[in-house]
Amino acid sequence: SDRVVLGPLVGAIDQGTSSTRFLVFNAKTAELLSHHQVEIKQKFPKEGWVEQDPKEILQSVYECVEKTCEKLNQLNIDITNIKAVGVSNQRETTVVWDKTTGEPLYNAIVWLDLRTQPTVERLLKIIPGQNTSFFKTRTGLPLSTYFSAVKLRWLLDNVEEIRQAVRDGRAMFGTIDSWLIWSLTGGKNGGVHCTDVTNASRTMLFNIHSLEWDSELCHFFDVPMEILPKVRSSSEIYGLMKSGALTGVPISGCLGDQSAALVGQMCFKDGQAKNTYGTGCFLLYNTGQKPVLSEHGLLTTVAYKLGRDKPVYYALEGSVAIAGAVVRWLRDNLGIVKSSSEIEKLAAEVGTSYGCYFVPAFSGLYAPYWEPSARGIICGLTQFTNKNHIAFAALEAVCFQTREILDAMNKDCGIPLSELQVDGGMTNNKILMQLQADILCIPVVKPSMPETTALGAAMAAGAAEGVGVWSLNPGDLTAVTWERFEPQINPEESEYRYARWKKAVMKSMGWEI
Ligand code: ADP
Repeated sequence: SDRVVLGPLVGAIDQGTSSTRFLVFNAKTAELLSHHQVEIKQKFPKEGWVEQDPKEILQSVYECVEKTCEKLNQLNIDITNIKAVGVSNQRETTVVWDKTTGEPLYNAIVWLDLRTQPTVERLLKIIPGQNTSFFKTRTGLPLSTYFSAVKLRWLLDNVEEIRQAVRDGRAMFGTIDSWLIWSLTGGKNGGVHCTDVTNASRTMLFNIHSLEWDSELCHFFDVPMEILPKVRSSSEIYGLMKSGALTGVPISGCLGDQSAALVGQMCFKDGQAKNTYGTGCFLLYNTGQKPVLSEHGLLTTVAYKLGRDKPVYYALEGSVAIAGAVVRWLRDNLGIVKSSSEIEKLAAEVGTSYGCYFVPAFSGLYAPYWEPSARGIICGLTQFTNKNHIAFAALEAVCFQTREILDAMNKDCGIPLSELQVDGGMTNNKILMQLQADILCIPVVKPSMPETTALGAAMAAGAAEGVGVWSLNPGDLTAVTWERFEPQINPEESEYRYARWKKAVMKSMGWEI
């Protein structure tokens, strides 16, 4: 049969909190040709604990790659056209494995996990003034359960196998990108132990100015530096795929998921921003080649460095822990929807929360509050409230949380955003998108191809030195069109609801002390 001639293609592994995907793009137009997705189990062994099995994650990547290649074959697309593979991943999630066996030494501790609260409190006691922002100028981050260093500290304190492996020189630490790249490039048989600057900037062990592991921070967290991966740029050849349908293809792009989305949305200029709605919600604002420190509860993070000799770009980030996860919770814990997408119908049937407010502070509150004592609440209930209103309130919560970080961002940057570029699994929900425009009082703009995280990783991989099949010129991405949602309610109504939301947030605080 006739092969379809397309020119160079690039694959992207998108390893998220809820699922793993592999997607293949045409490197000229950014057209998505085929993909496969596998949902990932989350384990909740104790209240506040969230773990995943690193082997299951790796297996899901292999499965997605093979299935996507089969689909391409069925479309008569020659998979030898795939010239590079990029990786984008859930950030902060922490894995320690044994380099002699290739086996993880413990489950991955997922970014949302709260077990390190006592670790954080203990560390805080030895920080001058017990100031959570003490390392902020160096790392861009406050001391919190969220970042990898405290998760690694917990593992070293609590898992004897890991301590033993460190003593024996067998232990390797990594975020999910490192675990995947090491495994895919050969694992115990010569796998490459590396990470990129964006992922490194979420560990709290990394100096975001010098772009190196910081020995003082490693000393403070008592982390042995020899178990850390080598830090590379986000776009260079790290190694070659060592098995499966894509054996021999270089892995040449690596970006934490939120950085990948920023690249995939082509926010390459100072002042451009995007918001991604996945398990959590993450608004990143490109501040150009200088890091900006927030005075309003935002993080400073490495946005990308697209090549060894290319400049580093920084972003201000507003992180919301629970966005899509609240929908998953309504599905799995309350059973009021059978699938995540069903929530749209439920919310549309009523078109209002009827004064019900839902603060999904399941893991405390992240930006701009950074309040570990907060827990979820649903308030404003009456005899009339039903599951539709609660569904609506859950969607509205995602929009209010975005409004809070956008307000903080506007204060830090001085120039208010005039529209918001969005992406992520939840943006398929049109009710949510309209609500978001209504609550922000600015237009919300969504690309026709919502997989911008994967696209960003593919672009980084395709543009790498020695691959060179992708130009990173926004004008070339002809396959991408945009859908706009304009605000439809008046600003007074919007402000009224937002003020009520803030009242509900205050009520969510101080539950766990
Ligand atoms: P991640 O990258 O964190 O794995 P995704 O971008 O894949 O997340 O988005 C998945 C999340 O979005 C899940 O938490 C799911 O509940 C939610 N979600 C997916 N589709 C919808 C929808 N139509 N309406 C509301 N939420 C949705």
